[in-house]
Amino acid sequence: MPEEKTQKRKGIVHINHEYCKRCGICVNFCPVKNLEIRQQKLMELERCIACRMCQRYCPDMAIEIEEIDAETVITGKSGHRNGS
Ligand code: SF4
Ligand code: SF4
Repeated sequence: MPEEKTQKRKGIVHINHEYCKRCGICVNFCPVKNLEIRQQKLMELERCIACRMCQRYCPDMAIEIEEIDAETVITGKSGHRNGS
């Protein structure tokens, strides 16, 4: 069954993997569990609400949040576009 992403994504997490020491602080602070450390690497799960908690609490300034418009929310990988 194809996975559906219904949660609105409001931010893109830019992770500086050179600065990130994978301490997990941001993972614990994220209210929507958007961050995860997998195979020694911090990654995001595309459901960021742009609260910037992770950015604020990262001791190494390894995270930057880019706010995105609700209109540009990506709901899947179908790539359908409206308009002519
Ligand atoms: S708080 Fe900063 S250093 Fe720690 S895992 Fe998150 S991004 Fe990496
Ligand atoms: S900005 Fe907020 S929602 Fe987005 S990854 Fe950071 S803590 Fe999670």
